[in-house]
Parts: sequence; structure tokens; C-alpha cells
Amino acid sequence: MTLSETETRAPAAAPARGARIRPPRPSDKPNGQWKVDGTEPLNANEQFKQDDNGLNVRERIENVYAQGGFASIDPTDLHGRFRWWGLYTQRKPGIDGGKTATLEPHELEDEYFMLRVRIDGGQLTTEQLRTIGGISTDFARDTADLTDRQNIQLHWVRVEDVPEIWRRLEAVGLSTTEACGDVPRVVLGSPVAGIAADELIDPTPQIDEITSRFIGDPELANLPRKFKTAITGHPSQDVVHEINDVAFVGVTHPELGIGYDVWVGGALAAVPRLGERLGAWAAPDQVAEVWHGVASIFRDYGYRRLRNKARLKFLIADWGIEKFRDVLETEYLGYRLADGPAAPKPLTIGDHVGVHRQKDGRRYVGATPIVGRTSGEQLTALADLLEAHGSTRLRTTPHQKFVFLDIEEDRVEPLIAGLDALGLSVRPSLIRRGTIACTGIEFCKLAIVETKENARKAVLELEERLADLDLDAPLSLHVNGCPNSCARIQTADIGLKGQIITDDEGNKVPGYQVHLGGGLASNERDEAGLGRTVRGLKVSATGIADYVERVASRFAADRVGEE
Ligand code: SF4
Repeated sequence: MTLSETETRAPAAAPARGARIRPPRPSDKPNGQWKVDGTEPLNANEQFKQDDNGLNVRERIENVYAQGGFASIDPTDLHGRFRWWGLYTQRKPGIDGGKTATLEPHELEDEYFMLRVRIDGGQLTTEQLRTIGGISTDFARDTADLTDRQNIQLHWVRVEDVPEIWRRLEAVGLSTTEACGDVPRVVLGSPVAGIAADELIDPTPQIDEITSRFIGDPELANLPRKFKTAITGHPSQDVVHEINDVAFVGVTHPELGIGYDVWVGGALAAVPRLGERLGAWAAPDQVAEVWHGVASIFRDYGYRRLRNKARLKFLIADWGIEKFRDVLETEYLGYRLADGPAAPKPLTIGDHVGVHRQKDGRRYVGATPIVGRTSGEQLTALADLLEAHGSTRLRTTPHQKFVFLDIEEDRVEPLIAGLDALGLSVRPSLIRRGTIACTGIEFCKLAIVETKENARKAVLELEERLADLDLDAPLSLHVNGCPNSCARIQTADIGLKGQIITDDEGNKVPGYQVHLGGGLASNERDEAGLGRTVRGLKVSATGIADYVERVASRFAADRVGEE
């Protein structure tokens, strides 16, 4: 992904192994659950959220801070409420990763912002893409990163330019509302919603209903922590649903027809946990109210005492799934949901790279940049290219890819050639296809190690070194700049977690702890799993290609049958 969706300082300890997490120990101390303990704020974060709703900072940005500049910004707004509008200060250039844990946050931060453009369902038009490209060129030094939550992030943004950026975004139906902060974040949606020939159900109406009714709603703008949503009706289960607070996966109920299997309680970060099935089936017209019920439980019962134990997964670990469903149905919905079946295991990888058939006979084309990095110029050129080939629609994906829609069959190969010229690959190597990276030390204040450039170099080297290897299976390499998991360390074949390591000569150098064997349904896994940290196994920042080559070569030599 990108600049942290994690607002806490990176923990020093290794993440817990497996899916078990501990809820807060029973104690006399209140956990800050509003419906149990009352709404007395128990820490500074809870205090500022109650003092003034984060959404209210917009008015001050437009009327005070944009005129007064960075120095005029109230510190609580700067480090708290700005996030409610997709704005984080970025890391000052040149600060060593070894100092991340010892410097105060204000010593790490620059006077420029990361700005996250929210793209629910990843759905974009070429007009919107061109607008983001223009904003990047005019106000963000041509930066633009595709995140693994279907957003696009810009860097080097000045507060003075934010009102004009909002004006341009909103003129084409985009926004940064609740793109960060303790709020309902972007709704992940199948990148092929409404178009894929093999789709079970188009989730677009459900995504639209949730976002139009509830995003920007002050009643849901003070949650204990972030709240992540995913919805898909595609059999590849292409939205990493297992690691969202709430998710809806398309499924056919034997008596009731097509609807959604409801999942809750997934999240990664330092204490990862895969979501669980609620065992309930939601009809399409029930999805928004079920979503609202789950979000409201989180608001009312979520733990607010300790920020690193506040995500919904901790409440569910404490309550158990049966109690959670019972509270949802009795206190929030007022009716029982139907029991429902699980969706069948996916048979195809869910990144949509390559050329595929649409319902209407045209094609959609999935392409990958390297580790999600694009630029304003590239986005603008992409909009032009797409229109020149007869299309005005595209999608972003949770795998840092693009999908281009509505391509007539005879325009597919010319489009692919044009995409290649722009550095986007429709037929990438397995390593280019499977590698994602978070923002890392270039812009992230929590980072310890560089990510995007290290991963890019490794991909290019590995494309040469692995060219002759008999490797037809997907290989996922996820590179993270710190122990947080913005690029999903625990769900990759090889996950790298940034830290300072000791090299063979005893020097402290940037490197990564290795995490092996994770994967989600959309990675063509038999079963989703969090993999494991291999204790003591570290690679230096310059040794990624060597390590991956060794693992891939060993796997190719030793694999059994279809393994
Ligand atoms: Fe997230 Fe990467 Fe920043 Fe760590 S370095 S907080 S993983 S973006």
C-alpha cells in the first residue's frame, strides 16, 4: 500500500503467530466501551475525537490553514483530525530509519502532506483519472501511488493547495472524505463488478448505498479505530475479504438465491487475525443495514482504552462469533438473518491481470505497474490511451493493479502495446505480478526501511535470474517498511518486514525479517493462512533478490506434482 493506514508507532516485538489474539485481560479498568463503560475519554485520542468531530476540520483547512500555511495549523488538528480528510504529514527526507523509534513524531514530519484519494470499489472514469493526474502534476511533484486498498495517494501536497485539490476532485465525483482516520475507510469492491462474464452478482449497488448513506455521516465518524470493508460478487474473491473488519462475499443460497456470505473481524497489523464467517446470508438489499449494524456495534462496544487493542477483531475474539451475531440481530437489526452457506473456494487468482471476457462480449484488460508506482503524467497518458482505444472506464485493484474495461477485441493488442510503452505490463513475469510494497521510508513517518525502490530493483533483477526457472505458480512478495503490515506481510508467500539488522560484518544496516507461507483465497490457496515469521531469518535491503532467487529455485526443484 502506501503511507500508513496505521496510526500507532510501530511495535518492537514480532507479530503474533497464527490467527489467535488475546482480548484485553479482564480487569477493573474500563475498556472504553461506550455502551458498557460510558463515554468518558480514556486517552488523548479519544479526547480529541470527542472535543470536536474530525470531519469539522475541513472548514478550518479551507478558511484558516490554507491561508495561514503550515505554521498556522493547530497541532491536534494536524496530528489528529486532518486524517479524517485523507491527509497525513509525510516524513522529512534524509532521516535514518534507525531513528524512527527514538525521535518525536514532530521531529520526523515534514511540512508536506500525503493526500489519499478515496476510490470506493476502485471505480474510475478516464475523466477522473485525468483529474488525479493533473492534480499530481500541478500540486504533488508528479507523485501517484496505487495502494493495495484501491486508493491513489499523492505526496508533497501543501496545505495551501488542498482547497483547490478538493474542488477539482469533487467536480468529477471524487473525494478524500474519511480516507484515513477512525472512520469507515474506502469500501473495497470487486474490480470487475458489473462486467466480468463469470460474475455471480454485481456489488456496485451495495457499495453505492453504503458510501452514499454513511460516508461522511458524523454518527459514524468517531469509531474506536479504522473500519475496513470489502464486497465482491466475483468467484475469484478478489477483495482480500479475510482481512477486513466486515466483508460480503457473493454466494448462492439454495433456497433464497444469490446474496452474500457475511464475514467479520479480519485485520492484520502487528497482531494479525483472519476474519470469520458469521454463518449468515445477507440479501443484496440487506447489505447496507448489516454493514451499518456491524459498524454501529464497533462504535458502541469497541474497545477504546488502548489504541493497539481497539480494532473490531479484539471485540470478536472476546465475545465469540455467536454472541456477535446475536447482538447484531437483536440490538441492531431487529430480525434474524438467514443461515447461509460458504462461497465455493476460488479457482482462479483474483488480481485480474491479463485479458478477460466481459458479459457483453468485449474484453477487460488487467495490467500491473511495478509495486504500484505511477505518476501524474502516466495517469494522464493512460486516460488518453484508453480513450484512444474506445474506453472511458477503468478500475484499481487491491493488488496495486489497473483493470481497463470495455475494450473491443480488435483493440486489445494495440492497447497492450500502448500500455507496455507506458510501463504497464499485461503479461508480466510472475515476480512482477506478485510483488507489492508499502510506502516505506521515502514518505512514511513510521518506516524503518526503504521499500518501493528496493522492491523495484529486486523485481528487475529477478526477472532476469528466474527467466529459465520452471515456475508456473504465482509467487507473492510483499515488502513492508516496518512491523506494521500495510503491504500485508502475513498473506504473502514471502513477506518482508522492515527493521535494522546486523550484517555479516557486524554493521547495523537496513533489512527485513522474513515471513513465509501466507496467503488468501484470492491467491489460489486451498485455505487462507497467515504464514509464519521465520525467527532469525533476515535479509538485507540489498539482498532481496538473492533470497527470493534461493527460495524460488528450491521450490521449483523440490515441488511435488501440482504443488
Ligand atoms: Fe505501513 Fe509501510 Fe509505513 Fe510501516 S513503513 S507504517 S508498513 S506504510
